[in-house]
Amino acid sequence: MAAAGTAASAARSPGAPAGTAARVRRPPAARPAKLPPLLVLLAAAAGPGAGGAAQLYRAGEDAVWVLDSGSLRGATANSSAAWLVQFYSSWCGHCIGYAPTWRALAGDVRDWAAAIRVAALDCAEERNHEVCRAYDVRFYPTFRYFKAFTKDFTTGENYKGPDRELQTVRRAMIDFLQNHTDENRPPACPSLDPVRPSDLRSLLDTRGGRYVAVLFESEGSYLGREVVLDLIPYENVSVKRALSPDGALLEKLGVSSLPACYLIYPNGSRGMVTVGKPLRSFFSSYLKSLPDVRKKSLSLPEKATIEEGPEAVVWREFDRSKLYTADLESGLHLLLRVELAAHKSLAGAELQTLKDFVTILAKLFPGRPPVRKLLETLREWLASLPLDRIPYNAVLDLVDNKMRISGIFLTNHVKWVGCQGSRAELRGYPCSLWKLFHTLTVRAGTRPEALDGTGFAGAPQAVLQAVRRYVRAFFGCRQCAEHFEEMAHDSMDSVKTADQAVLWLWKKHNLVNSRLAGHPSEDPRFPKVPWPTPDLCPACHEEVKGLASWNEGQVLLFLKRHYGSDSLVDTYAEDLGDGGQGAPAAGEEQPRADQGAGSLRLPSALPPGPRLSERWRQGLDVELGGPSGAEGRGGAEAAAAFLGMGFSSLDMSLCVLLYVASSLFLMVMYFFFRVRAKRWRVKHHHPSV
Ligand SMILES: Cc1cc2nc3c(=O)[nH]c(=O)nc-3n(C[C@H](O)[C@H](O)[C@H](O)COP(=O)(O)OP(=O)(O)OC[C@H]3O[C@@H](n4cnc5c(N)ncnc54)[C@H](O)[C@@H]3O)c2cc1C
Repeated sequence: MAAAGTAASAARSPGAPAGTAARVRRPPAARPAKLPPLLVLLAAAAGPGAGGAAQLYRAGEDAVWVLDSGSLRGATANSSAAWLVQFYSSWCGHCIGYAPTWRALAGDVRDWAAAIRVAALDCAEERNHEVCRAYDVRFYPTFRYFKAFTKDFTTGENYKGPDRELQTVRRAMIDFLQNHTDENRPPACPSLDPVRPSDLRSLLDTRGGRYVAVLFESEGSYLGREVVLDLIPYENVSVKRALSPDGALLEKLGVSSLPACYLIYPNGSRGMVTVGKPLRSFFSSYLKSLPDVRKKSLSLPEKATIEEGPEAVVWREFDRSKLYTADLESGLHLLLRVELAAHKSLAGAELQTLKDFVTILAKLFPGRPPVRKLLETLREWLASLPLDRIPYNAVLDLVDNKMRISGIFLTNHVKWVGCQGSRAELRGYPCSLWKLFHTLTVRAGTRPEALDGTGFAGAPQAVLQAVRRYVRAFFGCRQCAEHFEEMAHDSMDSVKTADQAVLWLWKKHNLVNSRLAGHPSEDPRFPKVPWPTPDLCPACHEEVKGLASWNEGQVLLFLKRHYGSDSLVDTYAEDLGDGGQGAPAAGEEQPRADQGAGSLRLPSALPPGPRLSERWRQGLDVELGGPSGAEGRGGAEAAAAFLGMGFSSLDMSLCVLLYVASSLFLMVMYFFFRVRAKRWRVKHHHPSV
């Protein structure tokens, strides 16, 4: 009992403030708690979501421990329980599809919580972006183990099991617990090792006090260990496991088949346990229901003080035949400031992929001049880099700070319109990526001259290959990227013209749609159907001998229209007329006050210049200082001077202010001395008579 209490309290970092601990969203202790009726009503009244925090796991409903930027470190550092944390992204289709398995696993091992906990953290939530970067989470889902009693900061050990089925992960959790050394083994976790044959006879002769259950099983079986862990929260019973002992002993005990359970009662009587089926659940529930076997009162961490209320959501009416600037710009914001920012530094092939993709974007991204200018400036900057490795912070600094001075600005608010989902975790970012990719292929065909001088002119696969490499290197949804790569590998080479590139992407997107129809990531309000639907493009659909088929010529015309500039509308797009401050209009989503992610901070809230400049320099030092040492650092500083980096808007404003003030001062001094000199001359002038 004491151990369980220790485990629970250690979920808070010893030095962390109470508030930090409170942010660990505890799963319900017993049955999933029902939402209070008022909350249910409010949630229902909130209707379809257009933004806000999308969460696949809910504290109070699921047995999953819900962590966030404020609680992850406090929960896992020096904890008396081990943790298995799934870093996921609520927009990632595979994470959505996997959520029921994770929930079921957490429910299944709920009783193991004093020894090991199943948690989840949503990297798509803005307030978690920074922490996911700090833990080097690039792709979703990522599974990490955190051992108990880890003193130093650790980003955890990656789980690389053969698969992610419930049983496989549960067994991996057991192996993980067994791999703890004796000193750092969670105190609440009983020994999982089998009783030594030499100790078995004395164990069987035990008499006294409480129930002792001995589970006989074969080598490689996990059942005994599972039952041991299932009984952690119960007192008056201890469970041991023994591996197939000699036949004579088994015969003497009356064991005819394995697994089997031999029980020694508190009064010293003993005998084999008879259960309906030799399964974990049968043995566990038999032992839990023995007279005087009670559940200990676990003092798990306090329930979250901040309850997740229903999100205030606004549904934006939109026209499905249009393309919305707000979708493209919101997607670009997440791509530049979140997805790419998950990579602390870029070098070699990854850096080249970024350069090529930004070149394609700079030349073909439709939309408003400040955004296009931003992309063009970024392209020029990347092209002029003398470095073969850059810290991504340098890109963020350029995008967030340097360019703002000249009024070059990209929204840092997410606002979905044509990519709205009926629930917050549906659609959004992947939808905007598809729209972006289609737009790029169409514009490469309709404005080929835009690529002149880039090295991509006249290359019909240029856009597709840039997209392919972007998806392969950076798209957070790993399995999506793998599927896309398979399709690209199979048939992208067959593309010989810009029109074929447009149609290739359309066909592949439809293949993905048909694969995902009925998948948990499908939004019922936007079903995955062959696209464009007959209402959007009647001419695209035909029947040949009674069989529905496409008229590809018409489809091509439709795609060029749909993803062309004429379809693009700025309704709902962020107002850029305020000099790039990007303040949301009334009633629109505001970033929350707790958005600590540096990459997403409003520049006005950025730390002052010297810190920024220091941070940039440090970043560069860290990246280049390693193997190349002083040489690398020298190069970095030269590069810093070359790039004119390290000045924030505050630095620049102060410079301008100082410049104006000193000019004024000089002018005032000049006139002052001129007037004085004149007066002096008049005073001392004696006209000769
Ligand atoms: C490259 C890539 C690969 C992906 N792979 C997977 C995967 O393997 N597994 C997974 O679960 N999720 C995957 N996703 C996510 C998934 O495809 C959807 O983006 C996501 O489920 C959101 O769906 P949605 O309803 O917004 O429509 P989306 O499929 O995202 O489509 C967005 C919009 O594009 C238009 N559109 C639809 N079909 C076409 C078409 N054929 N041609 C042109 N325009 C079209 C429609 O206006 C639609 O609303 C992938 C996403 C991307 C960008």
